[in-house]
Amino acid sequence: YRMSALSRRSFKVILLGDSGVGKSSLFARFNGDSFAEATFATLQVGSCRRTFRFGDREIVLELWDTAGTERMLSLTENYYHHASAAIFLYDVNDQATFLGVQSTWVPSIRRRDPSMTTFLVGNKTDKASTSYAYENVTLDEARRYESSIHDLQVAGNVQVSVKTEEGVQELFEAVAEALCGDG
Ligand code: GDP
Repeated sequence: YRMSALSRRSFKVILLGDSGVGKSSLFARFNGDSFAEATFATLQVGSCRRTFRFGDREIVLELWDTAGTERMLSLTENYYHHASAAIFLYDVNDQATFLGVQSTWVPSIRRRDPSMTTFLVGNKTDKASTSYAYENVTLDEARRYESSIHDLQVAGNVQVSVKTEEGVQELFEAVAEALCGDG
């Protein structure tokens, strides 16, 4: 009798995005914590692990949060070091944060490791107002931007609400699954 061989691999996943888009809130959800209306930037660099299972494969995601240091617009090299995947987070109600993805965060990956698996994620869909739809970042807009990126691997392009949890667990599973097929 032999136990079936379980393969287990760990991947570092980093959160990138302008201040206020919901990175810490997403990190807290990953950690199993509840949503908080008011968050306070702490200058503690945090990481947290969760295991996902696909058949006989176990994928451990180690998610890292910027801990507010993105406000200085210079995340340390240590943050990017050995990361396998990056989640670009923007606020669907705030075009400036979507521009931030394009002008700051995507280029930061381009400079360091274009082979990284990436995800474009719009947050706060619970707040998106239809009457001001022209101000919202639509999924169509995000898809148009994705199709303009030719040098990075974009494995997912979704919009979620960390507050209501809509799409959040699916996002984590999609990241694990994308990395599962890697290497
Ligand atoms: P960070 O600076 O990117 O880490 O953003 P935070 O996680 O600190 O979130 C900034 C603010 O947005 C906080 O007041 C959160 O409660 C709020 N927030 C985060 N996610 C959501 C969401 O899905 N919906 C709504 N309505 N607010 C959110």
